[in-house]
Amino acid sequence: MLFETPGRQLRLANLPTPKPGAGQFLIRVHACAVCRTDLHVIDGELTRPKLPLIPGHEIVGTIEAKGDGAERFEIGDRVGIPWLGWSCGECAYCKSGRENLCDRARFTGYTIDGGYAEYTVADQRFCFPIPSLYGDAQAAPLLCAGLIGYRSLVKAGNGKRLGIYGFGAAAHIVAQVARYQQREIYGFTRPGDRDAEKFALALGTVWAGGSNELPPEKLDAAIIFAPVGELVPQALKAVGKGGVVVCGGIHMSDIPSFPYEILWEERSVCSVANLTRRDGEEFLALAPQVPVRTEVQTFPLEEANEALARLRSGKIRGAAVLVMDAASPN
Ligand SMILES: [Zn+2]
Ligand SMILES: [Zn+2]
Repeated sequence: MLFETPGRQLRLANLPTPKPGAGQFLIRVHACAVCRTDLHVIDGELTRPKLPLIPGHEIVGTIEAKGDGAERFEIGDRVGIPWLGWSCGECAYCKSGRENLCDRARFTGYTIDGGYAEYTVADQRFCFPIPSLYGDAQAAPLLCAGLIGYRSLVKAGNGKRLGIYGFGAAAHIVAQVARYQQREIYGFTRPGDRDAEKFALALGTVWAGGSNELPPEKLDAAIIFAPVGELVPQALKAVGKGGVVVCGGIHMSDIPSFPYEILWEERSVCSVANLTRRDGEEFLALAPQVPVRTEVQTFPLEEANEALARLRSGKIRGAAVLVMDAASPN
């Protein structure tokens, strides 16, 4: 499924199977989850995509061929491919354990082709083994909703009372990890969205309500997954002294100005950008211990536009995942 022009639907296209370069694998894609970031790319809010582009950065597939020197996995091994597709290893960020901020990073489904396809190629260093507990479709959302969600949770610190704004794919995974860590979760959903509220409660939140409401007690931290800038001052009001507000998305509408008083007393706001391979290794080791169970709604590859439309309108419970047929080589 090809992205060619911002604001237009993806186009079903027949492309040659890519060839793995040095250090790369050819991967037959079995499932690729649909992320809100894909909407930001398609809507033109992320302005530097490769064009034309195959979107998708939560890929689960099996190794079908090896490029020169690609020895880390064997043919037939199942791997996951995340958003971070390449980093330079040489810049100050890479050298200080912060490859998520690499100056020359390349991103799957954004600056390199991704997984809305039957085949893709990936740098062997950026593939993860997938825990056997998970089916292909169930594993796919772990690769971004899970990884970025986990990074956001770590940034939120160790406080007991955690607010989560936006109960989509990332939140439904993070809530399970946070409960496992014996935290109390407060779920904030679109005002009036009773289905989302029920979903939040089903995930074990101690309280669920509209994002325009304040929780019954001050929170230690809040994570905002919804791409809505108005939620930043709202979350600052919900956290107590020293509280942290983590913005987990890659794009957000403008944050309205707010009185210094709600930042005062050492509250802080930070964003989470991308992931490191270490985040992936930590989270994929943790997920089966919790165990994180993902709720997925699957669509055939050619219905990617429908999956994106449903995600946009808030109609996906858990995560949307594209699943590929037993692919016929072209
Ligand atoms: Zn993503
Ligand atoms: Zn770098």
